[in-house]
Amino acid sequence: MTSSIEEGLNQIRDSISNDCTLVAVSKTKPNEAIKLAYNLGQLDFGENKVQELTTKADLLPKDIRWHMIGHLQRNKVKYIVPFVHLIHGVDSERLLREINKQGAKIGRKINILLQVHIAKEESKFGFDEEEIRNLIKEGVLKELQNVTITGLMGMATHTEDELLVRKEFASLKAFFDELNQVLTLRYLSMGMTNDYKIALEEGSNMVRIGSAIFGARNKP
Ligand SMILES: *Cc1c(COP(=O)(O)O)cnc(C)c1O
Repeated sequence: MTSSIEEGLNQIRDSISNDCTLVAVSKTKPNEAIKLAYNLGQLDFGENKVQELTTKADLLPKDIRWHMIGHLQRNKVKYIVPFVHLIHGVDSERLLREINKQGAKIGRKINILLQVHIAKEESKFGFDEEEIRNLIKEGVLKELQNVTITGLMGMATHTEDELLVRKEFASLKAFFDELNQVLTLRYLSMGMTNDYKIALEEGSNMVRIGSAIFGARNKP
């Protein structure tokens, strides 16, 4: 019998291309569920809470690539820099500087994505485009020797309005292309269970998918 995790994983794999990275979002899900996906060849997993991430990383196989996808508090950066593969939600200069500082302390260069605010909703975190242009102009990004900015991340408005979602993703892709004239960006992380198909059509090459693989999460 195939598990529902296997079905979910295969379904997603069939609908994304080879050059798109699938981050399986395992937040709130038990280690057994992660192990199951891991045994099917899934190596990239995403978590949004530092405590949960470090606990899972301790117990699970060491070749798992852990992605921190949630809002990250500066005082918790030190707990994840020794092992994290990619931090998606870098949304302020202060956080960026803290990651650089903690990376320097342990002699590690940390891969990060700058989160850009693209949604209409006030609640979503992220830089405005202009703030990032200024960081580049002021030479801040170059100055930070222990972070590597490998791309951008964005979350669209949570809405049934597909046109709005598409517009938001398209604006992030345009900004990604603009920055790529001065930086070397590899990843454009956009798309979750409900909107990843639109995200892929608009140029995403990294999707973060939870419920379509692991099933719905219990509401806290
Ligand atoms: C939870 C979460 C996801 C995955 O959400 P699903 O709708 O379950 O696919 C993606 N990105 C972020 C930042 C999340 O917090």
